[in-house]
Amino acid sequence: MKTKIATVSKDCVACGCCERACPLNSISVHKGKYAVVGDNCVGCGKCAYICPANAIETDKQTACRVKKQHWYDFLWVGEILYITLGFFNILFAWLGLVFMMTPLFMAITGGNKSYCNKYCGKGQLFGLIGSKLSLKLKPLRFLRSKWFRYGFLTFFMTMFALMIYSVVRVFGGTELSESITLLWAFKLPWNWTDISFVPTWVARFAFGFYGTMLTSTILGLTTMVQFRPRTFCVYCPMGAMTQGICGLKSRGEKSK
Ligand code: SF4
Ligand code: SF4
Repeated sequence: MKTKIATVSKDCVACGCCERACPLNSISVHKGKYAVVGDNCVGCGKCAYICPANAIETDKQTACRVKKQHWYDFLWVGEILYITLGFFNILFAWLGLVFMMTPLFMAITGGNKSYCNKYCGKGQLFGLIGSKLSLKLKPLRFLRSKWFRYGFLTFFMTMFALMIYSVVRVFGGTELSESITLLWAFKLPWNWTDISFVPTWVARFAFGFYGTMLTSTILGLTTMVQFRPRTFCVYCPMGAMTQGICGLKSRGEKSK
């Protein structure tokens, strides 16, 4: 039997970048947990070149282009639209819930990471801009480590819970601050939109959620410039959550 030439390590975060790059469809994400290499791999190294977790070993690493494009390869337009609309009216920030709930829904119902693998406009945007601007260095070891991935997820969810708490306080009568917070530290006034026609807590959620979405975009762009374009996938909280859900779901199926 022919030997597999590429091998995948346990650092794989099931982002699906390799799947999109392999010209022979030889590598694919298995049940949202990790990538698996098929027997027809020829060791061209295109998957290894693009893997943001540096989880693929091959003898060589070859620059690659994404294969034939599908309609969903253009979902990066939605990401740009979302950020732009938030500048004109902060209430559009509510639309971002789609980006948050869809991957969870797909992982819970389908037990896969199709959202990360195909439909994530933010990841696509990093891939697109990064193809021109990134230095494409291998991400640092700590960025790829499990403690950073799950540590960042814990931090992110704590900050998200605090944001929800601020919404509850506004609902309870606290004065609304028309501002967004970037990188959890920098408050920017965002008061050029008429939001008087919605309850104040609705507006507070929009400010908080938009700040969270912009923050993740800034982080992703920052690591994109230095490291492989989709390095954000390695520590993306949604990616970590959905991979965890897929793992649990698969374990549950096995124990039946
Ligand atoms: S981290 Fe992503 S690109 Fe790397 S092996 Fe896993 S699925 Fe493929
Ligand atoms: S080494 Fe080449 S053929 Fe093998 S899985 Fe990676 S991209 Fe596909």
